[in-house]
Amino acid sequence: MPDDAARAIGVLTSGGDAPGMNAAVRAVVRTALNRGVRVFAIREGFQGMVDGGASLVPMSWDAVGGIMQRGGTVIGTARCEAFRERDGRRRAARHLTERGIDRLVVIGGDGSLTGAHVFREEWAGLLEELVSAGDIAPEVRARHPFLSVVGLVGSIDNDMVGIDMTIGADTALHRITDALDALGSTAASHQRAFVVEVMGRRCGYLGLMGGLAGGADWVFVPEDPPAPGWEGRLTALVREGRAAGRRDCIVVVSEGAIDAERQPITCARVREALEAGLGEDVRVTILGHVQRGGAPSAFDRWMSTVAGAAAVDAVLEAGPDTAPEVIGLRLNRISRVPLVEAVDDTRAVVRELGAGDFARVQAMRGGSFADTTRIFWALAQALPTVVEPASPRRVAVMHAGGPAPGMNTIVRAAVRLGIDQGLTMFGIRGGVEGLVEGRVERLRWGSVDGWNARGGAELGTSRHVPTPTELQDIARHLEAHHINALVMAGGWAGYEVVEVLASHRHLFRAFDIPMVCLPASINNDLPASEMSIGADTALNLIVGALDRIKQSAVAVQRCFVVEVMGRYCGYLALLSGLASGAERVYLHERGVRLDDLQRDVAAMTRDFERGKRLSLVVRNERASRNYTTEFMAALFEEEGKDLFDVRRTVLGHLQQGGDPSPFDRIQATRLAAHAIDLVRGALDRGERDVVAIGVSGGRVTTTPLAEALASADRGARRPREQWWLELESLVRELAHPQVAEEEALPGLS
Ligand code: ADP
Repeated sequence: MPDDAARAIGVLTSGGDAPGMNAAVRAVVRTALNRGVRVFAIREGFQGMVDGGASLVPMSWDAVGGIMQRGGTVIGTARCEAFRERDGRRRAARHLTERGIDRLVVIGGDGSLTGAHVFREEWAGLLEELVSAGDIAPEVRARHPFLSVVGLVGSIDNDMVGIDMTIGADTALHRITDALDALGSTAASHQRAFVVEVMGRRCGYLGLMGGLAGGADWVFVPEDPPAPGWEGRLTALVREGRAAGRRDCIVVVSEGAIDAERQPITCARVREALEAGLGEDVRVTILGHVQRGGAPSAFDRWMSTVAGAAAVDAVLEAGPDTAPEVIGLRLNRISRVPLVEAVDDTRAVVRELGAGDFARVQAMRGGSFADTTRIFWALAQALPTVVEPASPRRVAVMHAGGPAPGMNTIVRAAVRLGIDQGLTMFGIRGGVEGLVEGRVERLRWGSVDGWNARGGAELGTSRHVPTPTELQDIARHLEAHHINALVMAGGWAGYEVVEVLASHRHLFRAFDIPMVCLPASINNDLPASEMSIGADTALNLIVGALDRIKQSAVAVQRCFVVEVMGRYCGYLALLSGLASGAERVYLHERGVRLDDLQRDVAAMTRDFERGKRLSLVVRNERASRNYTTEFMAALFEEEGKDLFDVRRTVLGHLQQGGDPSPFDRIQATRLAAHAIDLVRGALDRGERDVVAIGVSGGRVTTTPLAEALASADRGARRPREQWWLELESLVRELAHPQVAEEEALPGLS
């Protein structure tokens, strides 16, 4: 066998399991096969390497079919004491060389990545020892002069410094948020306080973000110990909330929470404090392993898929002197970071935590952690009532465009933070039509109670953009209510409404006010923002629906053509396709050619002839004017003849419904906080800027509206640059083998 063909990649999952690991394994296996490289799954993490034999399973294309939607890791994970010893690692090295494996993709936490690093450093020495002992031939050692290692961070805690989101963290947030929503409703029914423990021994990410998304009253996290006397402040806060009409009370405690003296803050301690202060029973709920379990979120599926594919290229490129790397999301892009540095920095944070340097720890957690901490406390402590200022500054919030989950979260955060900053807040009901009719209403602290988690748009929204005659009415109502600033949380229609108002400032003084647009649209098609609020929720709904559609096909060979929303933007189609293992996605951005359809039918036919049972095609609703969903389904049906049948599904409005996902809630709150800061600053300085805010590279950005709109394709109503479009080729690469498999390798039993 030539050297290259003998080479192989090993992939393993190690340490704590995390939802999304299966998507990563699938991507590693299929990308390796596409590169013509053999690939082995190593069962039970490092233990499988130490054990050898049947623990090293050669993987085929089909062996990783249908695993992406499953929680946990299908190839098993374990903690392995033997691998901590050199003897264990020597055995592992021997077993790898037996299979020609000298490239490893390790999916695990910082412990696993450290183990992999140690192994790589020792590789040459271990092989030397094996040769001396006569366990392997000198040629074998010569064939494998070095081991290359690439890491993917699987950890629900999101505790790796240098990586913005680890595999599993988003799913864990889903579990926590669902639990907090459920507890919130029972807590409100009984006007009762709940103390909830979430995972995170050394990292408060889940506590902080879960608390923010779940609308908790207080969070205790390791990085932010409360000043002494917190017991009194906590009970006072709960009392104030109750006095303002709030019925539920939820306190989130991270496993590793500590006080200023570095003593643990446990749920029992918090309960005691609350019971003493409130004089009533308080319930404790430990969420425990539920947080680890269940189907991975859409994000964990697509992110792990992209990272897994990138890991194969990194591990194949690595030479003897290439420092091992970790592949993960950084500033919203899949990036490579040095493994040793990432692990060292992560351990440094733990040391600083122990040493009590909390400011440094927060800084090391990255900008959004500190930012979110600030916003959380501003929201939690927002005063329910403030004395009416002598000359009130009045800010109106409204929506325009299609409904987007997270709109209510925006309004709630804007109202509470606005009131806290001394602004008088108003809501405009019914979008532009409501404004034309003067449906302007004062919003108080209590008006937005419970809005955090609620889907839809309580204020109402419409796609209407005002006509010239309506502008007069709008100006009249804005003036009558003395509105000094406008916050528009909406889609394209919202941005256009603000553009129209701004361009009529010379005619109507009422429009000569600061105006801020916030991207809220499931389509993710708004300019000057990489993500819009609502898109993540819609993506999760679509992926959930696609899972069910796939499950429904059990008996026959069937192709599903599923139409998803997005208007002219293919984000939902592409990302849901990637997260569901679709064979093909059709996007308006790429257009649909007859040639493509013919090629796709041929590929589909080949797949079904090979024994495939199910094929999934996702089509954006406006991918092509003439090659409609109906047409495509009919074409496939005709060409599939007796081989497979075709079903067509239009997912429709369910995509706009649903309670906002944790990510959408967190983004909504961050952007609303930014909008209020901007408005307040503009009013203080007497400025009247018209801007669009967004997120770019994980940071909140502000762009003049005119500039934002100029960066868009106005005809197609979408940004000219779309960061996710480059992921399209991956859908195809992971759906069809790009090279013929040399031999039929046995799959996972
Ligand atoms: P995680 O990867 O989730 O942080 P652990 O810290 O338990 O989980 O590490 C998983 C496994 O990685 C350990 O059981 C052990 O086999 C291996 N490992 C961890 N640290 C080392 C080390 N310093 N040297 C060798 N192997 C290690």
